[in-house]
Order: sequence, then C-alpha cells, then structure tokens
Amino acid sequence: MPVLWRRCRMAEFDTIVVGNGLFGSAAARHLSQLGERVALMGPDEPPDQSRHQGVFSSHYDQGRLTRFQDRNPSWAAITRRAVENYASLEALSGVGFHYPVGAVIVGDPSRDAEGSGDDPLTRVREDGIVHDYYEPGDGAWRTRFPDLDFPDSHYLIHEPAPAGFINPRRLIRAQNVVAVAHGATIIREAVTGVRSSRDGVIAKTHTNTTVTARKALVAAGAFTNFNDLLPVQLPLEIKTEVVVLGRVDGSTAKRLSDAPTVKYAIDDPVLEGIYVVPPLRYPDGNHYVKLGANTTADIYPTSLAEIQDWFRRGDSDVCLPSFERALGAMWPGTEFQTVETKRCILCRTADSRPIIDRVGDSVFVATAGNGGGAKGSDAWGELAAGLVHDGRWPANLAPLSM
Ligand SMILES: Cc1cc2nc3c(=O)[nH]c(=O)nc-3n(C[C@H](O)[C@H](O)[C@H](O)COP(=O)(O)OP(=O)(O)OC[C@H]3O[C@@H](n4cnc5c(N)ncnc54)[C@H](O)[C@@H]3O)c2cc1C
Repeated sequence: MPVLWRRCRMAEFDTIVVGNGLFGSAAARHLSQLGERVALMGPDEPPDQSRHQGVFSSHYDQGRLTRFQDRNPSWAAITRRAVENYASLEALSGVGFHYPVGAVIVGDPSRDAEGSGDDPLTRVREDGIVHDYYEPGDGAWRTRFPDLDFPDSHYLIHEPAPAGFINPRRLIRAQNVVAVAHGATIIREAVTGVRSSRDGVIAKTHTNTTVTARKALVAAGAFTNFNDLLPVQLPLEIKTEVVVLGRVDGSTAKRLSDAPTVKYAIDDPVLEGIYVVPPLRYPDGNHYVKLGANTTADIYPTSLAEIQDWFRRGDSDVCLPSFERALGAMWPGTEFQTVETKRCILCRTADSRPIIDRVGDSVFVATAGNGGGAKGSDAWGELAAGLVHDGRWPANLAPLSM
C-alpha cells in the first residue's frame, strides 16, 4: 500500500484516526464509507521488538478466537454483527482473514455456579446460539474431537462455524484496503500529540510533522493514555499477556487443520482461562498451536516505559512449564517440537466494557478490548465511526451500545 505522507502534509481531513489496530482500522473503514476524508495514523509492526523505541500493540499475531458466544448480551450483539459481516468484508477487500473451524468451550460447572449468569452455557442458551452440549461425564465429544482431552468434571459446548478464528493482521489489512478504496490516507507514523485547534484538531507525529482535521478518534489500544493523545486520562488497566507457540510438523498441522478453537476453564494453580488456536502457519513458515491464559505472573504496567520494557525484554518464560503441561494434557497424542513464548499486552476497564465516547469538543476515543475485542472489532469500529460522524450513537446500532 502506498505511503502518501508527503502529499497529505498540507491536506485537511474530516477525521484523524490514531491507531491502525483492530478498532482503529475498522473505524477508519466505516468513516471512509460514510464519505469522510480520513487520515489513519499508526505505525506498522516493528521488525525487531527487542530494539523498538516506539509503541507496540495487541494484534501482532496470526490468530484470534471468534464465535457468537460472548461474555454478556451486549458483547454478544456486537460480536454477532461483526461475525455476520466477515464474509462481506472479505469479498469487498479480497483479503481472507476468517477460518470457520468451530469453537469448543470447556467449562467447570462448580465454578460457573459462583457466576452471575454470564457463564458460557447460560449465554449460548439465552442468546439463542446454535450449539451442542456435552454435560460433565458425557464423553461422546471424544469421538468428534479425538485429538483433544479434558477432565470428565467439565462440560463441553461446541459452537459450529462461523465460530473459529480470525487472523488479526489480515483483518487489519482487509479494513485498510477498503478504507483506501474509499479515499482514506494511511500515515504509517506514531502520533506524539493531539491538540485542539481553531478548526478542530492537530496531530503531530514522531517525525514532527502535523496533520489537521475537524475531529480525531483515538484508538491506540493499551497506549491510549500515553503520548498526549487525549485531553483526559482514562481509567484503563494494562495487563501483560503471554502467547505460547507449540510447533508441530507440516503433516500434523494438516491433520489438525480443521480442529476447533478451545476456550478452557482449566483448574490450575498458575493458569486461568486457557484459550487455544489450532495449528496456524506463522510468518516464519512453521506451524504452531497457539495458546494463552491469565497467569499468576502477569504484571500491570502503568507507564509507557514499563510496557516497552515488557515487549523488549520481559520474562515471558516464567510460566512456561505450566503452559507446557497444559498443552500436553489438552493434546496428548500430538508431538510439539518446540514450545516458546511471545509477549503481548491487554487493555481493560473495571466493568469489562470498551470505552467508546467523546472526550473533548473534537476528540473521541475507542479503546479497551478487554482481551476479547478482536472478534467484534468491525462492529466496535462501526459504532465509534457512527458516533464520530454524527456526534450521537447511530440509530441502527443503538441497541448494541452499552
Ligand atoms: C495475546 C492476546 C490474545 C487475544 N486473543 C483474543 C481472542 O482470541 N479473541 C478476541 O476477540 N480478542 C482477543 N484479544 C484482544 C484483542 O486483540 C484486542 O481486544 C484488540 O486488539 C483491541 O484492539 P485495539 O484497536 O483497541 O488495540 P490494538 O489492536 O492494540 O491497536 C492499537 C493500535 O494503536 C497503535 N498506536 C498506539 N499508540 C499509537 C500512537 N501514539 N500513534 C499511532 N498509533 C498508535 C498501535 O501500534 C496499534 O496498532 C487478544 C489480545 C491478546 C494480547
């Protein structure tokens, strides 16, 4: 995609979107389709994280779980809207990003009982999601998913396609293709400040260049409170997240290519809430089963320097033995040639809801995917775009706002 930075230097835009991540790329696409002149500003993925001096993201990966089931009815409505639009976005952009292999959710009824009705089984039932249910002790699912193993104390829910996973890098590419086709300009630089001006806003980049627009939408994920992007500080919690990659050979990857994604309420002293993506081809040409979980070693950085330090040299191997044990137990017949970790970051709020709002005369924000924002990002972006465009929640999406 061409970088039109020099040509757009004097240009005026309707909206600057800060952050070419999952929320920002979606919002920029929808804004451009609403006829706005959009500047989408954000750096590409750094080639070498250990030496990178700037911002990072939550999307430098090949797989994000997707399904209709989500944490509460509002999330589920947003997610459903996004999932139902994957095919049209793929067709419009010519970029495939969706792998509808189905999803299994493995839950522990004793822990669900402590919950608020937002447990997976209640949610799939109340949200009318097509699924098969195997109660604890019913091992019939083993014939269907012979490579997987879970304790008999757990139930298993299978949600069929379009559940599965999406490739977040390719989803962003798809959004960018459509946005550019509708006139958006992508400026692949980090923004170091957004200020109000007489006519709207001015954004400055790390190369000291300025871009002007009537409005700005800040969608910088875990980096939203840094770099003077907003006139206010948002109540965001940043949490480190470890990604574990178990390498399998090509024939194993082929054999497991239609295995479902897994979300598993594991009973473990170190890991909480495991998720697994079946073998994926990564940019290095190898195939990896990917998993992650909250761990007892997660840290909560509060400054940009701390986040950068985590990405550059954080110790993501602390819980590797627990992850290896869990991987081997879940996929007992599968040989993992290597198991390695990567570092990532999450952005959360106290009530687990994204923040999509107006925070200044001409400044809006869309952030806090709370560890589950990728699958519904197209609809979160659509919601933000509607708010930025009209200054109010879009009528057709009003039932989806929280
Ligand atoms: C390991 C991991 C696994 C996950 N698994 C799932 C899953 O299975 N399913 C799911 O639905 N969700 C999942 N998520 C959550 C999902 O990835 C996030 O909710 C989503 O990425 C949030 O989108 P965002 O646009 O808010 O942030 P991001 O995707 O991080 O995008 C923010 C963008 O802003 C850019 N930026 C930051 N500062 C600036 C600046 N100053 N100037 C310009 N640009 C800037 C960043 O470079 C980045 O590109 C997972 C997250 C992690 C970390």
